[in-house]
Amino acid sequence: MLHEKLSSVYDHVLRRNPGETEFHQAVREVLESIGPVLGKHPEYAESKIIERICEPERQIIFRVPWSDDQGEVHINRGFRVEFNSALGPYKGGLRFHPSVYLGIVKFLGFEQIFKNSLTGLPIGGGKGGSDFEPKGRSTNEIMRFCQSFMTELYRHIGEYTDVPAGDIGVGQREVGYLFGQYKRITNRYESGVITGKGLSYGGAQVRTEATGYGCTFFVEEMLKARGTSFDGRRVVVSGSGNVAIYTIEKVEQLGGTVIACSDSSGYILAEKGIDLDLLKQIKQVEHHRLDVYAGRAGKEVTFVPNRSVWEVPCEVAMPSATQNEITGKDAEHLVRNGCVAVGEGANMPTTPEGIRVFLEAGVAFGPGKAANAGGVATSALEMQQNASRDSWTFEYSEDRLREIMRDIHARCLKTADEYGMPGNYVAGANIDGFKRVADAMLALGLI
Ligand code: NDP
Repeated sequence: MLHEKLSSVYDHVLRRNPGETEFHQAVREVLESIGPVLGKHPEYAESKIIERICEPERQIIFRVPWSDDQGEVHINRGFRVEFNSALGPYKGGLRFHPSVYLGIVKFLGFEQIFKNSLTGLPIGGGKGGSDFEPKGRSTNEIMRFCQSFMTELYRHIGEYTDVPAGDIGVGQREVGYLFGQYKRITNRYESGVITGKGLSYGGAQVRTEATGYGCTFFVEEMLKARGTSFDGRRVVVSGSGNVAIYTIEKVEQLGGTVIACSDSSGYILAEKGIDLDLLKQIKQVEHHRLDVYAGRAGKEVTFVPNRSVWEVPCEVAMPSATQNEITGKDAEHLVRNGCVAVGEGANMPTTPEGIRVFLEAGVAFGPGKAANAGGVATSALEMQQNASRDSWTFEYSEDRLREIMRDIHARCLKTADEYGMPGNYVAGANIDGFKRVADAMLALGLI
């Protein structure tokens, strides 16, 4: 239920942003959590902080023309939504996927404001991307697309302005091409303009692993708070991209067994655990589908085409693919089969009904804003190393990440307690993230 004042804010958001359903969903979730804050802090409503937070500071939409290997011309649409810079330069990744449109970029940018705030680091919120489909494209085509995309984007970004990174369809290879074109156009070696770079040109240790590792550390903390651990647990991870692969790696290191993971063609079931070297080879080097993994892994692995991985019973669920992948029905099925914890590696992977089912069943539910914040936090550490022309060791960087995730976990719990919702990480993350941004916005005046 929405607080009376927030209900009219939400109606206004619906009217002003027609058809952007994912953005509406992300706004509603935050508004549902922050009702109790308004009672304690009338100054937020008086200065219309909430209305202001829901309106991006700037939205850029541009044409991205490029030609394929046969010389045929293609036109895609590029986006960058600079949502909120109260805490620092806009920060958030770029997504290349055919489903990208303004509503997706705005939902991701909106979430990013609160997530970045929760890290305690000086970064604002933004997000971008394109409806470009990288699947099936050659390396040269991807490079030409990235160069064309950056030929427009470069004028809007900068170390102190807006710092993109990767997301779905944008990994280290794409970040390299984007940074190369930025450097060429501006004639500046401005490493801090983009994060997720390779180690040979300004990247940071642990950035590649950070989202998956961080999410696993967050779930480890949730389990610890309930007197238990990953040890011997059956875990299901969705996706098999950047976040999923490093989630699988860290879960295995902490004693859990990942028995299934997926891609958009289906899922693999591997009761004895996943061979991570083989998965990395197939996904990161050869860019194949998961049926190829099953073919090479032998009899103990089954490939199940065109089905949701959430039909596999498990004790810990770590959705790491895309938005709205766990429905209310999936959540009920997971709870019935003994799921005790959920860590959202992806952004908004659980529908509102799914979240309600998990919370009502008392499942430890780590929302994406908190659980996957390790990626952007390590990006901020990459910016810090770029600014000081320094590079830290893997061990030191991983320790910093673990410390940040423990701190986020502790603050979510403390805030949820303070507002009378003990153990509710959704409320804790939304309220804590909101308050830091709102206080900075109040201090900066009406801008
Ligand atoms: P990748 O592109 O590396 O991997 C995405 C994975 O999810 C792939 O296995 C892909 O399968 C699958 N997937 C994507 N879209 C769909 C879909 N519509 N249906 C089914 N499967 C799908 O992306 P990342 O791992 O970087 O990102 C995954 C999630 O994590 C996203 O929600 C992203 O916003 C979030 N995230 C990422 C961060 C990062 O640091 N990279 C930071 C914080 C959050 P296929 O290849 O078949 O499409």
